[in-house]
Amino acid sequence: MLGLMQPHPLMISSILTHAARHHAKAEVISRTHEGETHRYTWADVERRSRRLVRVLQKLGVGAQDRVGTLAWNGYRHLEVYYATPGMQAICHTINPRLHPDDIAYIVNHAQDKVLFVDTSFAPLVTAIAPHIKDNVRAVVMLSDAANMPEVTLAPGMTLHCYDTLLDGSDDDHTWTSFDENTASALCYTSGTTGRPKGVLYSHRSTTLHAMTIAMPDVMCMHATSRILPVVPMFHVNAWGIPYATAMTGAALVLPGRHLDGASMANILNTERVSMTCGVPTVWLGLLQHLRSSGETLTATKRIMTGGSAAPPLLIEAFRDEYNVIVEHGWGMTELSPVGTYNAPKPDQAGLTGDEFVRHTLKQGRILPGLDMKIVDGDGKELPWDGVAFGDLMVRGPWVTSAYYGDEPGSALEPDGWFATGDVATIDPDGFMEITDRSKDVIKSGGEWISSITLENIAVSHPDVAEAAVIAARHPKWDERPLLLVVARPGHTVDPASVLGVYEGKVAKWWLPDQVLVVAELPHTATGKLQKMTLRTQYRDHYMTESA
Ligand code: AMP
Repeated sequence: MLGLMQPHPLMISSILTHAARHHAKAEVISRTHEGETHRYTWADVERRSRRLVRVLQKLGVGAQDRVGTLAWNGYRHLEVYYATPGMQAICHTINPRLHPDDIAYIVNHAQDKVLFVDTSFAPLVTAIAPHIKDNVRAVVMLSDAANMPEVTLAPGMTLHCYDTLLDGSDDDHTWTSFDENTASALCYTSGTTGRPKGVLYSHRSTTLHAMTIAMPDVMCMHATSRILPVVPMFHVNAWGIPYATAMTGAALVLPGRHLDGASMANILNTERVSMTCGVPTVWLGLLQHLRSSGETLTATKRIMTGGSAAPPLLIEAFRDEYNVIVEHGWGMTELSPVGTYNAPKPDQAGLTGDEFVRHTLKQGRILPGLDMKIVDGDGKELPWDGVAFGDLMVRGPWVTSAYYGDEPGSALEPDGWFATGDVATIDPDGFMEITDRSKDVIKSGGEWISSITLENIAVSHPDVAEAAVIAARHPKWDERPLLLVVARPGHTVDPASVLGVYEGKVAKWWLPDQVLVVAELPHTATGKLQKMTLRTQYRDHYMTESA
């Protein structure tokens, strides 16, 4: 027997119409490139998104066509986020920090018909135009007429100004309902190996993910919250925040392109941001700025950190010096992206001091709706004892089943789970902790050493700004950890002293065999350490030495 509840499909347009109807005055604030602040409301976002639907139709976009964006976090980008799925098209956010060849590849692979481009990417779109002309018909610069940049396109492509198009269109579109499994958005993974792969979200997966991340034990969003996603809108839908804020009526603060410590402190304080989300690198930049300027955070109470492991220093410094709680989440493009969040259960609620920090370093509990497990090399499930570590597997309604263009189900293991490529432990209370990417873990004499644990300890040294540990080939042990560190500005790193900080924190055989001081470390387009480049460069360091 089926239930007798109304079969309303979960539609992204319903999130927006809810915000417009029930939180009409809630603010959406954007920092523009010119340093000005644009303010309007969720009701305005809804009205302008309807106008944008008419624009898209005039540009020839139809159901399931892909609409690309090359843009920072701002209000026009937000309107593209809602207008495209609202008319059954697909919003394809592209990471502008990728190599232009990769960007052209992604645009062609997705067959984007129209591109919406921030003015700062005018040279980029000019450079790739000859390579994307077979798919892209129109380029719309996210600008008013006065600030239109110089752009040269290939023959057959047309150039437009966003505000001019919107001013010349009507807002008479009516949102419709259709199958909630219809594709809504497309995002390519950063692709540290091989070509980037597309993850295709649906109205259903997006809505369920947004509902869940808004929950108290996740981002804890209220109509009184003021949320700033530092995480870019081109990276996994800014972790779902543009949808969850509309759903809860929270104010959404979009920071534009300037994410340095001083700009962040300024916008967090002037816009009274209660919670902000991003990668550890941004928070380290903010911390350095606060310390050197003597400024404080006047409204921000919580920082969500994710995307890569948070160093303990970050958690301690924000708690002790600024009374801000750093909360840890984990996820990936294939998971929409949030999979786990570290909010305490009763047993962890009273933790203090080092115990608190130690616990906060864990990536957290699985979100309701998803499930996770860890398995050994043979696929056998491992115990939740906080010690055994194995490959982390997940499943649930906002986990991908296949990459864009591939057969449904082709990204899954035979038993239906998705292998994340992360290696993790799970403690008896269900808190998961990433120990490594499966390809970064160091296999020394058949035993595994976590590169993340070693990096976290290295950055607790007062002279170290950043650290990377890689598996270097070793004549006796197969692989041994090699530590690369960057000195803090004005400091000199003594390798012996860095090795000293490991004393009592890890088993002796985990100690890096060597510490190399380097000027800088390479990062991926999403700000993560590019270990593949380091491995290529330093893989044979110990072999060469022993030879
Ligand atoms: P992406 O798809 O680019 O978001 O990358 C996802 C990957 O980032 C995950 O598989 C993890 O390896 C890593 N990651 C994300 N969040 C965390 C975190 N909180 N701690 C450690 N690694 C993380």
